[in-house]
Amino acid sequence: MHRKAPLKIIGSNAERTRLHNRKVVLGHLRSHGKLGRAELARLTGLSTQAMSNIIAELEGEALILAGERQTKGRGLPAVQYTLNPAGAVALGVEVRPNAILCALVNFLGDTLYTKRIHIKSSEPAVVLPAVKAACDEALSSIGKNAPPVLGAGIVMPGPFGRVGLTGAGKAELVGWDDKDPQALFEDVLQVPVRVENDATAAAIAEQTTGSATELQSFCFVYFGTGLGLGVISNGEILRGAFGNAGELGHVVVERGGRLCSCGNRGCLETYTSRMAASEFLQKRGKSAENQKDLSDLLAANDPDLEEWISEAADPLAQAIGTLENLFDPEAVILGGAMPPELLERLIEKLDLIDATVSVRADRTLPRVVRGASGWMTAALGAAALIIHDTYIPSISKVA
Ligand SMILES: [Zn+2]
Repeated sequence: MHRKAPLKIIGSNAERTRLHNRKVVLGHLRSHGKLGRAELARLTGLSTQAMSNIIAELEGEALILAGERQTKGRGLPAVQYTLNPAGAVALGVEVRPNAILCALVNFLGDTLYTKRIHIKSSEPAVVLPAVKAACDEALSSIGKNAPPVLGAGIVMPGPFGRVGLTGAGKAELVGWDDKDPQALFEDVLQVPVRVENDATAAAIAEQTTGSATELQSFCFVYFGTGLGLGVISNGEILRGAFGNAGELGHVVVERGGRLCSCGNRGCLETYTSRMAASEFLQKRGKSAENQKDLSDLLAANDPDLEEWISEAADPLAQAIGTLENLFDPEAVILGGAMPPELLERLIEKLDLIDATVSVRADRTLPRVVRGASGWMTAALGAAALIIHDTYIPSISKVA
Protein backbone atom coordinates (compact mmCIF):
# COMPACT_ATOMS: atom_id res chain seq x y z
CA MET A 1 0.00 0.00 0.00
CA HIS A 2 2.83 2.34 0.88
CA ARG A 3 4.28 2.23 -2.59
CA LYS A 4 1.15 3.38 -4.31
CA ALA A 5 1.36 7.00 -3.29
CA PRO A 6 4.74 7.83 -4.90
CA LEU A 7 3.77 5.87 -8.03
CA LYS A 8 0.63 7.94 -8.31
CA ILE A 9 2.66 11.14 -8.05
CA ILE A 10 4.99 10.01 -10.84
CA GLY A 11 1.99 9.09 -12.96
CA SER A 12 0.31 12.43 -12.53
CA ASN A 13 3.51 14.32 -13.33
CA ALA A 14 3.95 12.33 -16.52
CA GLU A 15 0.31 13.01 -17.41
CA ARG A 16 0.82 16.69 -16.74
CA THR A 17 3.90 16.76 -18.96
CA ARG A 18 2.01 14.93 -21.71
CA LEU A 19 -0.88 17.42 -21.57
CA HIS A 20 1.55 20.32 -21.48
CA ASN A 21 3.41 19.05 -24.56
CA ARG A 22 0.14 18.56 -26.44
CA LYS A 23 -0.82 22.14 -25.63
CA VAL A 24 2.56 23.44 -26.81
CA VAL A 25 2.21 21.59 -30.13
CA LEU A 26 -1.35 22.87 -30.64
CA GLY A 27 -0.20 26.39 -29.72
CA HIS A 28 2.53 26.33 -32.36
CA LEU A 29 0.16 25.00 -35.01
CA ARG A 30 -2.28 27.73 -34.09
CA SER A 31 0.40 30.45 -34.37
CA HIS A 32 2.05 29.16 -37.55
CA GLY A 33 -0.90 27.70 -39.43
CA LYS A 34 0.99 24.66 -40.69
CA LEU A 35 4.20 22.93 -39.70
CA GLY A 36 6.12 19.74 -40.45
CA ARG A 37 7.21 17.21 -37.83
CA ALA A 38 10.88 18.32 -37.78
CA GLU A 39 9.94 22.00 -37.48
CA LEU A 40 7.59 21.16 -34.62
CA ALA A 41 10.34 19.19 -32.86
CA ARG A 42 12.75 22.10 -33.30
CA LEU A 43 10.26 24.74 -32.10
CA THR A 44 9.17 22.74 -29.05
CA GLY A 45 12.56 21.33 -28.11
CA LEU A 46 11.05 17.83 -28.04
CA SER A 47 12.68 14.78 -29.58
CA THR A 48 11.49 13.61 -32.99
CA GLN A 49 10.21 10.41 -31.38
CA ALA A 50 8.24 12.32 -28.72
CA MET A 51 6.85 14.56 -31.46
CA SER A 52 5.81 11.54 -33.53
CA ASN A 53 3.89 10.18 -30.53
CA ILE A 54 2.09 13.47 -29.90
CA ILE A 55 1.25 13.89 -33.59
CA ALA A 56 -0.13 10.35 -33.77
CA GLU A 57 -2.25 11.00 -30.70
CA LEU A 58 -3.62 14.34 -31.95
CA GLU A 59 -4.24 12.89 -35.41
CA GLY A 60 -6.05 9.93 -33.82
CA GLU A 61 -8.34 12.37 -32.02
CA ALA A 62 -8.84 14.31 -35.29
CA LEU A 63 -7.61 17.52 -33.67
CA ILE A 64 -4.94 17.91 -36.36
CA LEU A 65 -4.85 17.05 -40.05
CA ALA A 66 -1.95 15.84 -42.18
CA GLY A 67 -1.79 17.94 -45.34
CA GLU A 68 0.33 17.97 -48.45
CA ARG A 69 4.08 17.41 -48.40
CA GLN A 70 6.25 20.49 -48.70
CA THR A 71 9.86 20.49 -49.81
CA LYS A 72 12.27 22.37 -47.58
CA GLY A 73 15.93 21.93 -48.46
CA ARG A 74 17.19 18.42 -49.15
CA GLY A 75 15.52 15.15 -48.29
CA LEU A 76 12.00 13.83 -48.40
CA PRO A 77 9.36 16.58 -48.44
CA ALA A 78 7.75 16.92 -45.00
CA VAL A 79 4.07 16.36 -44.30
CA GLN A 80 2.49 19.62 -43.15
CA TYR A 81 0.16 19.48 -40.15
CA THR A 82 -2.67 21.92 -39.42
CA LEU A 83 -5.36 22.23 -36.78
CA ASN A 84 -8.60 20.53 -37.82
CA PRO A 85 -11.45 23.09 -37.59
CA ALA A 86 -14.00 20.26 -37.39
CA GLY A 87 -12.02 18.29 -34.77
CA ALA A 88 -13.93 19.61 -31.76
CA VAL A 89 -16.49 22.20 -30.71
CA ALA A 90 -17.00 24.39 -27.66
CA LEU A 91 -20.11 25.98 -26.20
CA GLY A 92 -20.34 29.54 -24.92
CA VAL A 93 -23.22 30.85 -22.85
CA GLU A 94 -23.82 34.31 -21.47
CA VAL A 95 -26.36 34.52 -18.67
CA ARG A 96 -27.95 37.96 -18.32
CA PRO A 97 -30.71 39.03 -15.94
CA ASN A 98 -33.34 38.62 -18.68
CA ALA A 99 -31.73 36.51 -21.42
CA ILE A 100 -29.47 33.62 -22.27
CA LEU A 101 -27.13 33.94 -25.24
CA CYS A 102 -25.78 30.67 -26.57
CA ALA A 103 -22.96 30.16 -29.08
CA LEU A 104 -21.19 27.19 -30.61
CA VAL A 105 -17.70 27.47 -32.14
CA ASN A 106 -15.38 25.08 -33.94
CA PHE A 107 -11.80 24.18 -32.95
CA LEU A 108 -10.49 27.38 -34.58
CA GLY A 109 -13.01 29.53 -32.72
CA ASP A 110 -15.16 30.20 -35.80
CA THR A 111 -18.86 30.71 -35.06
CA LEU A 112 -21.16 27.83 -36.02
CA TYR A 113 -24.36 28.86 -34.23
CA THR A 114 -25.79 31.66 -32.09
CA LYS A 115 -29.14 32.17 -30.38
CA ARG A 116 -30.75 34.49 -27.84
CA ILE A 117 -33.43 33.18 -25.47
CA HIS A 118 -35.56 35.34 -23.21
CA ILE A 119 -35.86 34.25 -19.57
CA LYS A 120 -38.42 35.45 -17.01
CA SER A 121 -36.07 35.17 -14.06
CA SER A 122 -32.33 34.74 -13.54
CA GLU A 123 -32.71 32.31 -10.65
CA PRO A 124 -30.85 28.98 -10.96
CA ALA A 125 -34.09 26.96 -11.19
CA VAL A 126 -34.98 28.83 -14.40
CA VAL A 127 -31.50 29.38 -15.84
CA LEU A 128 -30.08 25.85 -15.53
CA PRO A 129 -32.77 24.00 -17.57
CA ALA A 130 -32.89 26.86 -20.09
CA VAL A 131 -29.13 26.68 -20.63
CA LYS A 132 -29.31 22.89 -20.99
CA ALA A 133 -32.04 23.20 -23.64
CA ALA A 134 -30.14 25.94 -25.48
CA CYS A 135 -26.92 23.88 -25.56
CA ASP A 136 -28.75 20.77 -26.77
CA GLU A 137 -30.29 22.80 -29.58
CA ALA A 138 -26.92 24.30 -30.51
CA LEU A 139 -25.31 20.86 -30.75
CA SER A 140 -28.17 19.36 -32.74
CA SER A 141 -27.86 22.26 -35.23
CA ILE A 142 -24.60 20.78 -36.55
CA GLY A 143 -26.03 17.36 -37.28
CA LYS A 144 -25.84 13.89 -35.84
CA ASN A 145 -22.09 13.39 -36.07
CA ALA A 146 -21.11 16.32 -33.90
CA PRO A 147 -17.41 16.30 -32.93
CA PRO A 148 -16.44 16.03 -29.24
CA VAL A 149 -17.50 18.94 -27.02
CA LEU A 150 -14.40 20.33 -25.28
CA GLY A 151 -16.49 22.14 -22.71
CA ALA A 152 -18.76 25.09 -22.02
CA GLY A 153 -17.69 28.59 -21.09
CA ILE A 154 -20.30 30.32 -18.99
CA VAL A 155 -20.27 34.07 -18.69
CA MET A 156 -22.00 35.67 -15.77
CA PRO A 157 -21.78 39.28 -14.69
CA GLY A 158 -19.25 39.68 -11.87
CA PRO A 159 -18.41 40.24 -9.13
CA PHE A 160 -18.45 36.61 -7.98
CA GLY A 161 -19.45 35.92 -4.37
CA ARG A 162 -20.65 38.44 -1.84
CA VAL A 163 -18.22 41.33 -1.96
CA GLY A 164 -18.27 45.04 -1.22
CA LEU A 165 -19.52 45.85 -4.70
CA THR A 166 -22.54 43.55 -4.45
CA GLY A 167 -25.47 45.90 -4.24
CA ALA A 168 -28.64 46.71 -6.07
CA GLY A 169 -26.89 46.74 -9.44
CA LYS A 170 -29.10 46.44 -12.52
CA ALA A 171 -26.68 43.98 -14.07
CA GLU A 172 -26.76 41.42 -11.28
CA LEU A 173 -28.29 37.95 -11.34
CA VAL A 174 -30.76 36.98 -8.63
CA GLY A 175 -30.28 33.86 -6.52
CA TRP A 176 -26.64 33.00 -7.33
CA ASP A 177 -24.75 34.61 -4.44
CA ASP A 178 -24.30 31.42 -2.42
CA LYS A 179 -24.23 28.98 -5.33
CA ASP A 180 -21.32 27.29 -7.10
CA PRO A 181 -22.18 27.98 -10.76
CA GLN A 182 -19.41 25.77 -12.14
CA ALA A 183 -20.64 22.67 -10.26
CA LEU A 184 -24.29 23.38 -11.12
CA PHE A 185 -23.61 23.86 -14.85
CA GLU A 186 -21.31 20.82 -15.03
CA ASP A 187 -24.07 18.77 -13.47
CA VAL A 188 -26.70 19.73 -16.06
CA LEU A 189 -24.43 19.94 -19.12
CA GLN A 190 -22.15 16.95 -18.39
CA VAL A 191 -19.12 18.65 -19.95
CA PRO A 192 -16.24 20.58 -18.32
CA VAL A 193 -17.40 24.10 -17.46
CA ARG A 194 -15.48 27.28 -16.93
CA VAL A 195 -17.16 30.35 -15.44
CA GLU A 196 -15.77 33.76 -16.32
CA ASN A 197 -16.81 37.38 -16.18
CA ASP A 198 -18.00 39.01 -19.41
CA ALA A 199 -15.01 41.31 -19.93
CA THR A 200 -12.44 38.51 -19.73
CA ALA A 201 -14.46 36.34 -22.09
CA ALA A 202 -14.75 39.22 -24.55
CA ALA A 203 -10.99 39.81 -24.33
CA ILE A 204 -10.36 36.19 -25.29
CA ALA A 205 -12.79 36.49 -28.22
CA GLU A 206 -10.78 39.51 -29.32
CA GLN A 207 -7.58 37.49 -29.22
CA THR A 208 -9.08 34.52 -31.05
CA THR A 209 -10.80 36.27 -33.94
CA GLY A 210 -10.75 40.03 -33.37
CA SER A 211 -8.29 42.94 -33.27
CA ALA A 212 -5.89 41.29 -30.83
CA THR A 213 -4.87 38.15 -32.74
CA GLU A 214 -1.29 39.45 -32.96
CA LEU A 215 -1.15 40.73 -29.38
CA GLN A 216 0.25 39.00 -26.30
CA SER A 217 -0.47 41.77 -23.78
CA PHE A 218 -3.50 44.03 -23.97
CA CYS A 219 -6.30 45.58 -21.95
CA PHE A 220 -9.86 45.09 -23.19
CA VAL A 221 -12.34 47.69 -21.94
CA TYR A 222 -15.72 46.00 -22.22
CA PHE A 223 -18.94 48.00 -22.59
CA GLY A 224 -21.60 45.69 -21.14
CA THR A 225 -24.36 47.16 -19.04
CA GLY A 226 -21.59 48.70 -16.96
CA LEU A 227 -17.90 48.83 -17.78
CA GLY A 228 -15.58 45.85 -17.36
CA LEU A 229 -11.94 45.11 -18.04
CA GLY A 230 -10.18 42.01 -19.32
CA VAL A 231 -6.39 41.97 -19.01
CA ILE A 232 -4.24 39.59 -21.01
CA SER A 233 -0.60 39.74 -19.95
CA ASN A 234 1.95 37.73 -21.94
CA GLY A 235 -0.87 35.51 -23.18
CA GLU A 236 -2.20 34.81 -19.70
CA ILE A 237 -5.50 36.00 -18.26
CA LEU A 238 -5.21 38.17 -15.18
CA ARG A 239 -7.99 36.95 -12.90
CA GLY A 240 -7.19 38.02 -9.35
CA ALA A 241 -7.66 35.87 -6.26
CA PHE A 242 -11.42 35.35 -6.71
CA GLY A 243 -11.91 36.00 -10.43
CA ASN A 244 -12.96 39.58 -9.76
CA ALA A 245 -10.00 41.50 -11.21
CA GLY A 246 -11.00 44.18 -13.69
CA GLU A 247 -13.98 45.97 -12.13
CA LEU A 248 -12.92 49.05 -14.05
CA GLY A 249 -16.42 50.56 -13.94
CA HIS A 250 -16.16 50.99 -10.19
CA VAL A 251 -12.83 52.75 -10.18
CA VAL A 252 -13.51 56.19 -8.75
CA VAL A 253 -12.64 58.94 -11.21
CA GLU A 254 -14.32 61.80 -9.36
CA ARG A 255 -14.36 61.78 -5.59
CA GLY A 256 -17.82 62.75 -4.32
CA GLY A 257 -19.13 62.55 -7.90
CA ARG A 258 -22.25 60.81 -9.20
CA LEU A 259 -23.88 58.14 -7.05
CA CYS A 260 -23.23 54.63 -8.42
CA SER A 261 -25.33 51.47 -7.96
CA CYS A 262 -22.42 50.01 -5.92
CA GLY A 263 -22.92 52.64 -3.24
CA ASN A 264 -19.79 54.67 -4.03
CA ARG A 265 -19.73 58.05 -5.72
CA GLY A 266 -17.84 59.07 -8.85
CA CYS A 267 -17.35 55.59 -10.36
CA LEU A 268 -16.14 55.56 -13.99
CA GLU A 269 -19.25 53.74 -15.28
CA THR A 270 -21.55 56.52 -14.04
CA TYR A 271 -19.85 58.66 -16.74
CA THR A 272 -18.64 56.21 -19.39
CA SER A 273 -20.91 53.23 -20.12
CA ARG A 274 -24.01 52.35 -22.10
CA MET A 275 -26.03 52.89 -18.94
CA ALA A 276 -24.53 56.37 -18.50
CA ALA A 277 -25.31 57.26 -22.13
CA SER A 278 -28.87 56.07 -21.79
CA GLU A 279 -29.43 58.06 -18.56
CA PHE A 280 -27.82 61.18 -20.03
CA LEU A 281 -30.06 61.05 -23.11
CA GLN A 282 -33.16 60.24 -21.08
CA LYS A 283 -32.71 63.51 -19.20
CA ARG A 284 -32.80 65.23 -22.60
CA GLY A 285 -36.04 63.43 -23.43
CA LYS A 286 -34.43 60.89 -25.78
CA SER A 287 -34.68 57.12 -25.63
CA ALA A 288 -31.47 55.14 -26.02
CA GLU A 289 -32.27 51.77 -24.54
CA ASN A 290 -30.38 49.67 -27.07
CA GLN A 291 -27.57 49.76 -29.59
CA LYS A 292 -29.87 50.63 -32.49
CA ASP A 293 -31.19 53.74 -30.69
CA LEU A 294 -27.61 54.87 -30.17
CA SER A 295 -26.66 54.10 -33.80
CA ASP A 296 -29.63 56.10 -35.07
CA LEU A 297 -28.82 59.10 -32.87
CA LEU A 298 -25.18 59.00 -33.96
CA ALA A 299 -26.14 58.76 -37.64
CA ALA A 300 -28.36 61.82 -37.15
CA ASN A 301 -25.44 63.74 -35.56
CA ASP A 302 -27.56 64.18 -32.46
CA PRO A 303 -26.04 67.07 -30.45
CA ASP A 304 -26.96 65.51 -27.10
CA LEU A 305 -25.20 62.27 -27.94
CA GLU A 306 -22.17 64.26 -29.15
CA GLU A 307 -22.20 66.08 -25.83
CA TRP A 308 -22.31 62.79 -23.93
CA ILE A 309 -19.38 61.42 -25.97
CA SER A 310 -17.30 64.48 -25.08
CA GLU A 311 -18.26 64.14 -21.43
CA ALA A 312 -17.53 60.40 -21.38
CA ALA A 313 -14.19 60.69 -23.18
CA ASP A 314 -12.35 62.59 -20.46
CA PRO A 315 -12.70 60.14 -17.53
CA LEU A 316 -12.09 57.29 -19.98
CA ALA A 317 -8.84 58.89 -21.18
CA GLN A 318 -7.72 59.20 -17.55
CA ALA A 319 -8.60 55.54 -16.91
CA ILE A 320 -6.72 54.45 -20.04
CA GLY A 321 -3.61 56.28 -18.81
CA THR A 322 -3.88 54.37 -15.55
CA LEU A 323 -4.30 51.05 -17.38
CA GLU A 324 -1.23 51.78 -19.50
CA ASN A 325 0.91 52.54 -16.45
CA LEU A 326 -0.39 49.56 -14.50
CA PHE A 327 -0.29 46.86 -17.17
CA ASP A 328 2.09 48.07 -19.91
CA PRO A 329 -0.19 46.74 -22.67
CA GLU A 330 0.63 46.71 -26.39
CA ALA A 331 -2.74 48.44 -26.87
CA VAL A 332 -5.98 49.21 -25.06
CA ILE A 333 -8.99 47.86 -26.95
CA LEU A 334 -12.54 49.20 -26.59
CA GLY A 335 -15.37 46.80 -27.42
CA GLY A 336 -18.60 45.19 -26.31
CA ALA A 337 -22.25 46.09 -26.59
CA MET A 338 -21.82 49.53 -28.15
CA PRO A 339 -22.27 50.43 -31.82
CA PRO A 340 -18.81 50.23 -33.47
CA GLU A 341 -19.17 53.72 -34.95
CA LEU A 342 -19.88 55.12 -31.48
CA LEU A 343 -16.72 53.48 -30.14
CA GLU A 344 -14.82 55.06 -33.06
CA ARG A 345 -16.19 58.50 -32.14
CA LEU A 346 -15.26 57.95 -28.51
CA ILE A 347 -11.70 57.00 -29.52
CA GLU A 348 -11.43 60.13 -31.73
CA LYS A 349 -12.46 62.28 -28.77
CA LEU A 350 -9.95 60.79 -26.33
CA ASP A 351 -7.37 63.29 -25.18
CA LEU A 352 -4.86 60.73 -23.96
CA ILE A 353 -2.31 61.53 -21.28
CA ASP A 354 1.00 62.44 -22.95
CA ALA A 355 3.24 60.78 -20.40
CA THR A 356 2.61 57.08 -19.73
CA VAL A 357 4.75 53.97 -20.25
CA SER A 358 2.78 53.37 -23.48
CA VAL A 359 4.17 56.51 -25.11
CA ARG A 360 7.09 54.91 -26.92
CA ALA A 361 9.15 55.91 -29.91
CA ASP A 362 8.91 52.37 -31.32
CA ARG A 363 5.10 52.09 -31.27
CA THR A 364 3.58 50.55 -34.37
CA LEU A 365 0.00 50.31 -33.09
CA PRO A 366 -2.27 53.13 -31.94
CA ARG A 367 -2.55 53.25 -28.13
CA VAL A 368 -6.31 52.71 -28.29
CA VAL A 369 -8.06 50.60 -30.93
CA ARG A 370 -11.63 49.55 -31.50
CA GLY A 371 -12.38 45.88 -30.96
CA ALA A 372 -15.06 43.58 -32.18
CA SER A 373 -18.43 44.45 -30.78
CA GLY A 374 -21.91 43.06 -30.85
CA TRP A 375 -24.45 41.38 -28.68
CA MET A 376 -22.77 37.95 -28.86
CA THR A 377 -19.23 39.11 -27.99
CA ALA A 378 -19.14 37.66 -24.46
CA ALA A 379 -20.85 34.36 -25.35
CA LEU A 380 -18.45 33.82 -28.26
CA GLY A 381 -15.59 34.73 -25.96
CA ALA A 382 -16.76 32.17 -23.41
CA ALA A 383 -16.61 29.48 -26.09
CA ALA A 384 -13.21 30.79 -27.23
CA LEU A 385 -11.96 30.46 -23.65
CA ILE A 386 -12.54 26.72 -23.82
CA ILE A 387 -10.61 26.49 -27.11
CA HIS A 388 -7.92 28.75 -25.62
CA ASP A 389 -7.45 26.23 -22.77
CA THR A 390 -6.45 23.50 -25.21
CA TYR A 391 -3.23 25.21 -26.29
CA ILE A 392 -0.42 27.23 -24.73
CA PRO A 393 -1.24 30.76 -25.85
CA SER A 394 1.95 32.67 -25.11
CA ILE A 395 3.87 31.52 -28.16
CA SER A 396 5.23 34.32 -30.29
CA LYS A 397 4.12 34.46 -33.92
CA VAL A 398 7.72 35.14 -34.84
CA ALA A 399 9.52 31.82 -34.84
ZN1 LIG B 1 -19.58 51.91 -8.55
